[in-house]
Amino acid sequence: MLGTLVFYHNQVRPYNREDQQFCRALADLAAVAVENALLHQETQRRLRELTALHEVDLQITSALDVGKVLETIAEQLRQVLGVATLYIGLYDAERDVLRLPLIIDRGERRPQIEQIASDSAGLAGWVVRSGQPLWVDDMLEEQFRLPVEAVRLGEATRSLAVLPLVVKGVVVGVLSVQSYEPHAFDAGDRRLLDGIAAQAAIAIENARLYQEVTRRLAQTRVLREVMLAAASTLDFDQVLERACETLQTLLRVEYLGVVLPEEGKWLRSHPSMIGYSAPADQIRVPMKKSICGRVLQTGEPMIVGDVREVPYYHAGVPEVRSELAVPVRVGDQVIGVLNVESSRFNAFDADDLALYSAIAGQLGVALENAHLYQREQQQRREAETLYRAAQALTTTLELREVLDRILSELQQVVPYDSATVQFLYDNQLQIIGGRGFPNLEELLGFTFDLSGEGNPNGEVMRTRAPVILEDAPPVYEEFSREPHAAAAIRAWMGIPLLFGDRSIGMLALDKREPGFYTPEHARLALAFASQAAIAVENARLYRQLEEKSAELDRALRELQDLERLRNEVVQNVSHELRTPLTLIQGYTELLLAGDLGPIVETHKRALEVIRERAATLSQLIYNLTALGKIPHDTLVLHPIRIQEPVRRALRNYRLVAQQAGVRLEVEMPEDLPRILGDGEYLRLVFSHLIDNAIKFSPGGGLVCVQAWASEQWVHVAIQDQGIGIAPEHLEHIFERFYQVDGSTTRRFGGMGIGLSLVWEIVEAHRGRVTVKSEPGEGSTFTVTLPQAQE
Ligand code: ADP
Repeated sequence: MLGTLVFYHNQVRPYNREDQQFCRALADLAAVAVENALLHQETQRRLRELTALHEVDLQITSALDVGKVLETIAEQLRQVLGVATLYIGLYDAERDVLRLPLIIDRGERRPQIEQIASDSAGLAGWVVRSGQPLWVDDMLEEQFRLPVEAVRLGEATRSLAVLPLVVKGVVVGVLSVQSYEPHAFDAGDRRLLDGIAAQAAIAIENARLYQEVTRRLAQTRVLREVMLAAASTLDFDQVLERACETLQTLLRVEYLGVVLPEEGKWLRSHPSMIGYSAPADQIRVPMKKSICGRVLQTGEPMIVGDVREVPYYHAGVPEVRSELAVPVRVGDQVIGVLNVESSRFNAFDADDLALYSAIAGQLGVALENAHLYQREQQQRREAETLYRAAQALTTTLELREVLDRILSELQQVVPYDSATVQFLYDNQLQIIGGRGFPNLEELLGFTFDLSGEGNPNGEVMRTRAPVILEDAPPVYEEFSREPHAAAAIRAWMGIPLLFGDRSIGMLALDKREPGFYTPEHARLALAFASQAAIAVENARLYRQLEEKSAELDRALRELQDLERLRNEVVQNVSHELRTPLTLIQGYTELLLAGDLGPIVETHKRALEVIRERAATLSQLIYNLTALGKIPHDTLVLHPIRIQEPVRRALRNYRLVAQQAGVRLEVEMPEDLPRILGDGEYLRLVFSHLIDNAIKFSPGGGLVCVQAWASEQWVHVAIQDQGIGIAPEHLEHIFERFYQVDGSTTRRFGGMGIGLSLVWEIVEAHRGRVTVKSEPGEGSTFTVTLPQAQE
């Protein structure tokens, strides 16, 4: 039943049955009409709601900035529902923070606030946690039935709705509309609000995502640009300069710079800094009392919203309010701090921190590259300097000059005001060269006793390692006494001269500036010293070698004199012997021929012995004079058959062999190629060899003479089964006057010239003699002569 239709009349019983029927029909009609009107009204209202929602949807999804989206939602709520008091909260689940960026009270904006959602956020916090909407028609009646106590921001409102903003089942915020009137929102309003809340959630989330993507893109771009700028050079300073410039252009920071540690206690700003008015070399902050120092020491980045709240803040530029500092790492070492400052409070947030940390990471890589490159460059320069120095040292073998060069090249490697080279002689160091001293003459020859303690030279020699004195005079008082005092030495460095594992002396470098020498200097000087030691040792060896060679020269000259003398004696004696011998031979022949009268048989026998021995003697003398006298042009070389001189030689020895019990065997084909030779000299060669073969076969045996031809040669071998020759004698037997048994009591006669004559004659034929021999087995001498070209 929709309602009642009532008819009144001033008479009693004025209606009859028909009237009643008519009225009922009328009421039925009225009911239909009213029902229709109500339905129409409801439809109209739904339509309005839908239109409003559509409108809201259009509006709020057209913005992509979260702030804009929130403004639009508020505006739509005002237009569609006439709401003038509301707030919107955004929930950050990670930090559990509910931020209310939009608060409007009776149409007025209020400053934003932030609350911890699980703690102090009142009804909004409850909605975030539960995900349930909350409707209050009249606060006065319902406040004690609420799940949590409401937080009041201003004058208390009477009716309110707090709706969760939900995206894909996750609460991302709250929307609250309020009124100072009770029962301000009817069912239609509620429906509309629900719809708006759903749309708002999606729009806010989209805007958030968009903002996030845009921010990421911007960050990536900054990072990329900084990385490109930093990687465009391998120079440490330029890396920083280009990176800072790029950061400034992209991010428009007020103050930006990289600070680097200095002497452990300070941080110095790199000249690439931007925004500061003082020059970089004047910006120096204490390590212990500065934000950058803290970051450098802990390796942890820092965001400071208000620098006045940091007790160890180092006040530099007075306008600075907030600061962000991130460590710059090379490898795992923090080498500096990237520092940004702003004149606003809270100018930097977590996003900035992430961005600057990433930039610092890139910077670290670029700086590491620059550092590696520079080190590589420096090592190359060092290697080149050392190489040049070493080359200069090795160009001479004069010790004096070597010392000079060591001192001048050392200056190229490591600077000094004065320096000495000291050599070790009998546990004493002696100054043998120097430079830069006003009184060098006084110093040369000065010695340091190494057994006594106290002088740093001793330590260098003992440890065989460089020794650096920051300030020499207080350490060793001799530095302040003459003759050393004249050089006014303060910094001192001693470098051992190591040759292999032996230290042969040292270099001492002096500087008038205390604390000048660093381990780096020592490293370079040591590398140089090892080259210097080699040069010094070479010069010393060379000097020894020269002395030895002079001695040898002398000995050789003496030997040559002796040899000449011996030859002269031999020639003279032979000459003197020849005349009387010729006479002896002449008279013997006359006697034997009976020209001087008849001789008896016994005398004849004696005379024959004299003739035989005189012939041997004559042969000997001939041999002696022939020695050393066979120049190539005295030979008469023509094509001859080798058989001839061999046979002639054999003919003379048949009898001798027989007497010695030696059998002679000859294997000589008739068709051997001719050789180019002098028949008479070759007869001499084979005579000597056959003579030796018989002579050194004391127990008899076989002497075999063989001849054969090969490619361009003809060979004749004389083989015996005699005593043989020991290997140690083999290489000497062709020398003049050499005999295996040279004693006067020797078993076999001879003067040791036969084989040398053989050698000389065969050589003059451009042939060669070789020997194979085995003691006790026998010997084989082979003469090889070139065939005649026919
Ligand atoms: P010599 O006139 O003393 O024999 P040679 O110059 O002919 O001098 O020989 C030098 C030395 O070589 C000899 O003293 C001998 O010791 C050794 N010698 C030479 N020929 C033979 C050989 N056929 N067998 C063993 N020793 C030999």
